[in-house]
Amino acid sequence: MKCSLCDREAFTYIPYARLRLCREHFGEFIRSKVVRAMDRYGMVSSGERILIAVSGGKDSMALLHIMNSISQERSLRVLALHIDLGIGEYSRRSREIVSMIAKSFGIDLIVYDLKRDLGLSLPEMKKGIRRGTCSLCGLVKRYVMNTAAIELGATLATAHNADDIAIYILKNIVIGDWNSCIKLVPVIPEVKGYVAKKIRPLYEVYENEAMLYVVSQNIPYVDMECPYTYRGGIEERVREFLNKLEEERPGIKISFLRKFTRNIEVLRINREEHIGQCTSCGLISSRDMCSFCRITQKIFGEPQGKRVRDFFRSLEMVDTS
Ligand code: SF4
Ligand code: ZN
Ligand code: ZN
Repeated sequence: MKCSLCDREAFTYIPYARLRLCREHFGEFIRSKVVRAMDRYGMVSSGERILIAVSGGKDSMALLHIMNSISQERSLRVLALHIDLGIGEYSRRSREIVSMIAKSFGIDLIVYDLKRDLGLSLPEMKKGIRRGTCSLCGLVKRYVMNTAAIELGATLATAHNADDIAIYILKNIVIGDWNSCIKLVPVIPEVKGYVAKKIRPLYEVYENEAMLYVVSQNIPYVDMECPYTYRGGIEERVREFLNKLEEERPGIKISFLRKFTRNIEVLRINREEHIGQCTSCGLISSRDMCSFCRITQKIFGEPQGKRVRDFFRSLEMVDTS
């Protein structure tokens, strides 16, 4: 089959656009889709510094490549952050691939290595507490990413794709967690000194499109799964349900996300009125101490938030990998 836009062999078919596209046109299609979503949701302005969180998986590698390709025309200053969790071979491979690709793109990379910079790897931190590994991992990553972006004066870009977000929204509706629901928007505005501005440029890119993007553009990514990956529970059921719906009605996930974003303002509380400050690290907290400081106090004997902040404050903008 031929590409709908040129004479080359088609690489894939996009059902909701009814297009067969070759590798080159597919790459352009995804990049322009990201740019349109950035404009639609007002994600960035010219001159903004963007810190891209890169795990090494297909989504973050696609994001790094796309942001790097559009950074010039959009006058964005792009740099990357990788958190080395210290999870054996998985973390070793991830760091290696991220370092190699950032270098080949000419993007400054900051590596925050839990073992080196905090003293314990994620599995070692887990030994000190009863919380699940993924829940601890999420908490630590969110804290480090937010802190890095605040201290570097950057907007944080994460690689959540349309499937991830639609699943999280439905799951949170099912379990009644509206507080998490309202955070699943394409842009979370900055609250100066407390919360960094966060954007999700892949908000309208499907999971399989991110995968096809890295394959079509020959971008290496970590094809290994983290050993703690768990499939099951509500998330998996919601995923199956949404995939079935998408098969029957191509494009429904995106239209769901657009309507969600339009209507979610109704539920949004005035965040600035409710801001509390962590007595230890000074960042946002709904209690005396933020969750990161509380959990690290249990693990290390003392809260570690200030230490993470000092790491990013002391950074010269050079490659720290
Ligand atoms: Fe972290 Fe769990 Fe994801 Fe592994 S599977 S990277 S532990 S959240
Ligand atoms: Zn083509
Ligand atoms: Zn704190």
